[in-house]
Amino acid sequence: EDFLAAGPIAGDGDLDASLRPSSLTDFIGQPRVREQLELVLHAARARGRTPDHILLSGPPGLGKTSLAMIIAGEMGAAIRITSGPALERAGDLAAMLSNLVEGDVLFIDEIHRIARPAEEMLYLAMEDFRVDVVVGKGPGATSIPLEVAPFTLVGATTRSGALTGPLRDRFGFTAHMEFYETGELVRVLQRSAAILGIAIEPEAAAEVAGRSRGTPRIANRLLRRVRDYAEVRGDGRVDLSAARAALAVYDVDELGLDRLDRAVLGALVRGFGGGPVGVSTLAVAVGEEPATVEEVCEPFLVRAGMIARTPRGRVATAAAWHHLGLQPPAGAMD
Ligand code: ADP
Repeated sequence: EDFLAAGPIAGDGDLDASLRPSSLTDFIGQPRVREQLELVLHAARARGRTPDHILLSGPPGLGKTSLAMIIAGEMGAAIRITSGPALERAGDLAAMLSNLVEGDVLFIDEIHRIARPAEEMLYLAMEDFRVDVVVGKGPGATSIPLEVAPFTLVGATTRSGALTGPLRDRFGFTAHMEFYETGELVRVLQRSAAILGIAIEPEAAAEVAGRSRGTPRIANRLLRRVRDYAEVRGDGRVDLSAARAALAVYDVDELGLDRLDRAVLGALVRGFGGGPVGVSTLAVAVGEEPATVEEVCEPFLVRAGMIARTPRGRVATAAAWHHLGLQPPAGAMD
């Protein structure tokens, strides 16, 4: 399959499942989030209560779903998984809520995309553990209160800014996930290689880690690609030269930027003279959804020091011009 066409959001199915860390100690990196969660979960366990609702915020592939499963595991609870776009009608949510058993974790991925009526139902469920189900229409409509077993909502979002105030306020704790350091991604890769039985040399792991966009899911996907290469062109051992050659074949550059990242940079620099330009204009220029550009590309390009957000729009830094092999104009941002 073409992982570049699939883009950085797409999962890897079975591969992801076998590589998911299953406990907080197994979960690499994110030291702050881990410490915060340990406290929340420990305190809840000691009190014999379900933990407060938890919001996990950050770009795709950083481990939000894995953490939700870990939270359930650490609490000895079952997890039910759904997503904002799947909860189009309030009735869909009412059905999920009324099936919950005390202590369950309800995981709602992409919670910022939940439809309004379901969101309003969620307020009451989160706060009072009940829902009002409206039966009938017009003047004869009645609302029937239903009890919901005490549960913990774990919401995940790539855009915590898109959450409404009332929804955000009902979470007891928000964990902000950061991109991973290269050293942390090396550990992710070593762990995955051990699980999958791949022999990877330390220099090769460092090379792959450095080009994984700070994202464990991408590190795991690149690991699979370099293994393919090493098996087909060599003896199966992933050494530095095999890793480099494989990454070149798959068009991953030295910074780990993929095709869409480079398209966005290219449009910004070549099409708009380096900006400032609005994110939706950029998205049109590269033929992508604004949300993808904003939630997937931009966070990493900002962190890589390639683009800056200004009140007037996105601006390419001097590093972006250099990365594309161009001379930055006088006065380009550092
Ligand atoms: P998200 O929900 O944020 O998109 P996931 O939880 O689905 O991300 O993580 C994607 C994959 O990346 C997981 O299946 C797992 O293999 C890997 N992964 C994510 N975070 C970690 C971590 N901290 N340690 C080890 N592997 C991780």
